[in-house]
Order: sequence, then structure tokens, then C-alpha cells
Amino acid sequence: MRRFKRLTSLLLASVMVLSLAGCGGKGEEATTEMVTEATEAATEATEEATTEEVDLEAMGNLIQNGDFAGGNSKWSVYTNGGICTSNVKNEELQVDIAKIGGVEHGVQIYQDGFALDNGVKYRFEFDVRCTMERDFDWRLQINGGDYHAYASQTITATTEMQHVSYEFEMTEASDPAPRLCFNMGYVDAMEEAGLSFVDMEEHTVWIDNVSLEVVDASGIVNDKVEVDVPKVKVNQVGYETEADKIAVFSDLAEDDTTFTVVDAKSGDVAFEGDITTPVENASAGEKNSKGDFSGLTKAGTYKVVTGGGEESYEFTIGGDVYAKSYNSVVKMLYLQRCGCELTEDLAGDFAHPVCHNTEAVVYGTDTKVDVSGGWHDAGDYGRYVVPAAKTIADLLLAFEENPEAFGDNCGIPESGNGINDALDEARYELEWMLKMQDPTGGVYHKVTCDVFPETVMPQDEVEELICAPISKTATASFAAIMAYAGRIYSENGDAEFGNKCIEAAKKAWTFALGNKKAKGYRNPSDIVTGEYPDTNSNDEYFWAGIELYKATGDTSYLAETKEAYAKVKSFGGFGWANISGYAEYAALTSDKLSSDDAAFYSEIEKNFFGAVDAALVTSKANPYMINKEDSYEWGSNLSIANTGMMFYLANNLKSNEEYIAYANAHLNYLYGVNATGYCFVTGVGTLYPEHPHHRPSEVLEKCMPGMLVGGPNSGLEDPYAKAVFVDYPAAKCYEDNAQAYSANEITIYWNSPLIYLLTATRK
Ligand SMILES: [Zn+2]
Repeated sequence: MRRFKRLTSLLLASVMVLSLAGCGGKGEEATTEMVTEATEAATEATEEATTEEVDLEAMGNLIQNGDFAGGNSKWSVYTNGGICTSNVKNEELQVDIAKIGGVEHGVQIYQDGFALDNGVKYRFEFDVRCTMERDFDWRLQINGGDYHAYASQTITATTEMQHVSYEFEMTEASDPAPRLCFNMGYVDAMEEAGLSFVDMEEHTVWIDNVSLEVVDASGIVNDKVEVDVPKVKVNQVGYETEADKIAVFSDLAEDDTTFTVVDAKSGDVAFEGDITTPVENASAGEKNSKGDFSGLTKAGTYKVVTGGGEESYEFTIGGDVYAKSYNSVVKMLYLQRCGCELTEDLAGDFAHPVCHNTEAVVYGTDTKVDVSGGWHDAGDYGRYVVPAAKTIADLLLAFEENPEAFGDNCGIPESGNGINDALDEARYELEWMLKMQDPTGGVYHKVTCDVFPETVMPQDEVEELICAPISKTATASFAAIMAYAGRIYSENGDAEFGNKCIEAAKKAWTFALGNKKAKGYRNPSDIVTGEYPDTNSNDEYFWAGIELYKATGDTSYLAETKEAYAKVKSFGGFGWANISGYAEYAALTSDKLSSDDAAFYSEIEKNFFGAVDAALVTSKANPYMINKEDSYEWGSNLSIANTGMMFYLANNLKSNEEYIAYANAHLNYLYGVNATGYCFVTGVGTLYPEHPHHRPSEVLEKCMPGMLVGGPNSGLEDPYAKAVFVDYPAAKCYEDNAQAYSANEITIYWNSPLIYLLTATRK
């Protein structure tokens, strides 16, 4: 097993995978060069593979605990409409099925954690019997996208124990993380035989001796296209003329101590400098050094070259280098719009008919409500109130910071209507949120179907929409963002909409105060879409109270606000769970508060800057100049973008050049100065994600531009990550693969702090 596996994981520690599929545009030219290099690497690897003798016997059974001697270990059950229990008795898997459900995976037993390699011949075997005669399917399938099978069979199980043996060759590209499934739901053969899944009686299936073995590896093809990521990391989009410019180097040779910045076309040297002494970076598994070329301010296209010949990707220096990226990062929110048609003139490839415009049922009732509109949250089509509030807050902060950056021509349907496009786009979501408030003032936590959609376009998710129960977290977040928005719209010529928002905020606030003791939101057992749970709502109450105080000038809000604030555990939070930072910034930008309650004001100030300065200390210690230590969580790029935003906001309150420098360092990280070498924003730079976990991009086989992906996640929280990232250093737990959804998904609220950062940078 080990010797064989080495062939498919060659070079993985030092190289990242580059896909051949191009998004087109600016990145394509550079991609061609990289593919040539990658093909050479792959050729070498193939030669090595064919000359190495593979020890088949030592590899053994690729399925773990196939004989069930270890009980249920390594085996999992999934149901979709079916009902079953599974147990291991006498070292045999016993599945008691009460209902099979209406789809083939209505009842499913599965296992991950093995690989299938192109050109290899396998034998798949198992034993099966049943209390009655029935058809079921086994499948070795891709674990994502269209879930198609690499190998599969329909088997008729009977009361007699039956031995199944099937040989096949893996003819598709190698898959490091496929899934083995026994589908015991309503399989095609049943439907073809005219059987009804409803009438299926209760029965039991036994499975044993599951085995997947290599029978011939002589034809193995190493088809993994790999590319050396440069040892010189730069912002792949570029640097503003006057900004700090620092390249980060990884694992240079000891005598490689100088660098030049050369004109990309002529090769002329534009700058020369020394490389700093390398330092150990445990979280990235490498040694890093730096080269500062901030002194180079001449506009142009360059690359950084070390004395030892290591080169960066090309980048530009000039004014407004983010203009192209900015347009697509802002436009992404429009492309995520739900409940309306996206027209081809504005949405291009991502145009689609109206989606999700049927009424939603209120969970546990027969009541139906119109909650159409808003933005699809992420790679799925759920719409969630709590992260929506964060997204709008970022957009409104960006608008306040630099309204001219948006203007009235972002290419959305409202462009040219005389209203700033940031306000138009935010209003699309706010109008949806207003529909999510029920007459009591409480706000539904989210609207989704009961399960995540298949890999389909939004208009093709047509199952019943469900409003999940009201939660205090959603209600308090709603109160906060409605009060904030109400103030902004009122100040910018739309008092009518502004007042509507503030009235909705007041109703939500009253409801939230009356339900302070309610438990935090948890999904009902029959809803399995994104949960966005939050056990501590004091930060939401603090935010709501301070925004209502600011919007109305009414000091009576302060008592409840201070009570919630006293219970806030962590400051400077800009995530969807801890949103204390928004409340603190709102408070610290209120002159009225500093005179109404100077002591409260200065306590908030002390705590906010405590969080800011702690982030600064951590950022200075990190070789990539970011606020990260040993681990990278799901959506690590969110915390990177949030920290950058926090530094800018801090600078607004108390001018400090270091805050700006480190805000830019966080932006540089997102655009390429990181251990993976990726520019994490789709469609710009040289090496950027082309296969994010994002259903429209997957269906259309075209990557939507302007999306910030989640980034490295050392928690290994999806089957692909568990199978492939095991030996990766924390800061490199990332691949551009749609199956790796815990590292390569996208969301509106990862884009939104990036919108803020870019808006602030473009001043
Ligand atoms: Zn939709």
C-alpha cells in the first residue's frame, strides 16, 4: 500500500495541483507555461512509476475493516428519505431497513479513505444476503459534483448468501478520494420492474467480506498535473505605487541571499535588494525570508528574481491595480441574487431564469410565506439571516468608507438610477430580510430546502422551501443591521426606506429582549442545511442596542446595551458568530456616546484596541505577516480579510501607519503571498482557483470570477481533505478541488470583507 501510494502522491509536499481547465482571460497565457513545466514533471513521475515494481500482496485490501472484525469502524450510513438501523453482529454488517425512501441513496452504507488510480485494474468483492429478494446497487463513485460511478452493478440479493466479484479498470483520471456505496434505496431496477418504493416491506440486508484489491498496476498512469509553486510569493495582481511591497521566499538555498526586481518584458533590473535571514515557519512546514522592494515606484510589469534564479509570477506596480478584481468581487453579490432572473447582458454565462420564487412553509406549520429574494449564501442556495447581516454590514461600511469606489455603474440592474450601487445591492438583501420577519417581530433563522441541493443550477432546485424556526440570534442580528441600514439610507436621501428599516429593527429588538433566555439555534433533526449555530448572543444584542441608539438618539437603549456588553467574551469579532467588532466600531464612531456615557465609550475603546493590537503582534510574528498562528480553520480567508478590515477601521479611529501596512499585508496574502502560492480570488492573478465548490460554476464548468475561496483548513472537514491533506502542513491544507468543500467553497460573507478592504485601498 505504502509503496503504491507513493506514486500518486509524488511531490505533493512541495507542489500544488494546477488544473488544465482555463477560466480564460488574463490568466491563460501564464497558465500555458506552467502546464509545460507540469507536463515535464508528470512525465518524470510516469517513468518512475512504470519502472517500479508494485508489490500487490503488500497492498492488500484497500477497504478498511472489510470483514467487520472491527465492528462498524470506518463504515457510515446515510439516509435520504429512508429509515434504517445498522449494526455489526458476528462480524457481519446487518442493515435493518424500515423504509427505502424514493431515491437510490434513500438508504446508503458507505466508506471513504482509499484511492483509485488511472490505468490500474481492480477486483471488487463482497458477500450479501437478505430476508427477501431485492435489487440494490454498489458503486465506486466520485464523491462530489455529479457523483457519477467509476464502477457499479445492480445485484439481486436473495436469502442465500451470494459472493459478488467484479473486475474493472479505472479509465478515468485518478481520484484520491472516491466513495464506495451500497445503495439500498429505490434503485433504477425497481422502478423499471414497476415496483413502488412506498409498498416496500421491512427487511434486513447482511454484508460481509468487502474487498477492493489491485489485480494489475502495470498500466498505471500518473495523470496528476502538478506544478512547482514558485518559491517567491508576490501579490499576483500587483501593488499600488506607494504601498509597501514585500516578497516572501520559501526554502531558498542557503547561499541565495539577494534579489532583483526585473521588468517582465525587457529583463532590465529595476531594483536590487538583500534577502532577510530565513526563519522557521512551523505552520507552513518551510523556512521563510523576505525581500522589501517598497522603494520601487515606477509603474510597470515585473517579476522578482533571486540571485539563485528563483522567480515569482508576474505582477504590476501602478495606480488602481485592483480595478479589475474589484469589479468582479462586487459583482459576485449580484450573481448570487435569488428570486429574480439574471439576464445575459449583465450576468453573462451565469444568467439564469428566476429561481426559488415559490412560497416557503414555516417549519412545523401549514403557514406559507413569501420570502423570495436575497442572495444565495454560498456554493449552495440557502439564504441565512445571520451571515446576511455580516455581509450587509461590510458593504455599508465600505460605502461609508469610499462611496466613489462603487459609483452608479457596477453593472447591476439598478446601475444608472442615481443611487449608489452599494446601496442598491445591499437593499436587494435587506428587502428579503424584511420578509423573513414574522408579525411577532421574530426573524426566521434561514430559508432552505430540507437538504442541500444536488449539483444543479438554482432554478433546478425546486423542492419545498422551508423557513427554519425563529432564533434570537437571527432576530438580534436583524435588529442590528436594520437599524444600521435605516440610519445610512435616511442619511443618503431615502428616509422612507430608512424609517421602514428602523421600525422593523425596533420590533425585532422588542422580540429579542423578550426571548433573551431562549436557547441558541440548532437545526431541527429533519433539516440538514447550514446551521450557523451560535451559543452566545450577547454580542448580537450589544450590536443591536448600539445601532438602535445611534439610529434613534434614544439613550433608553443604553441600559440593555451595556448589560449585553458586560457579557461579551471576545472583542474585535467580525465573523458571523462573534460580531462584537461591528458594535464596537459603531460605538466608537458615535460622538454622542462619548458625551452621553464617556466611561462606557472608553471601556469599549480599550477593549477594541486591545484586540487590534493583539492581532498586530501576531501578524508581526508570522512570516507571511498575517494574524494566524498554528492552525487554519474552515474559512480561514474570512479571518484574514476580517483582520485586514479591522486594521483599516482602527486606523479610521486612531491613525497609525502600521495598521495600514498590515491591512495591506492581509490583502497581499489573499492575492498570493501565502504558503500555497494561490491567489485565492477567482479570475485574477496567475494561479487562482478554477474548481471552487460552487454549484453554478460546477454545472457550467466555468468558474465564476470574483469569488474569494475559504482557503487552508487544517481541520480536514470533508472526505477529500481527510484523504488527501493528511500530511500537509496547516497553512497548506488546500487544493483547488470542488470536492474539498471545507477549503474551496465560497460565500457572500467571505467576499464582503474583501469588498471592504479593496474599497478602502482604492481611496
Ligand atoms: Zn435562488
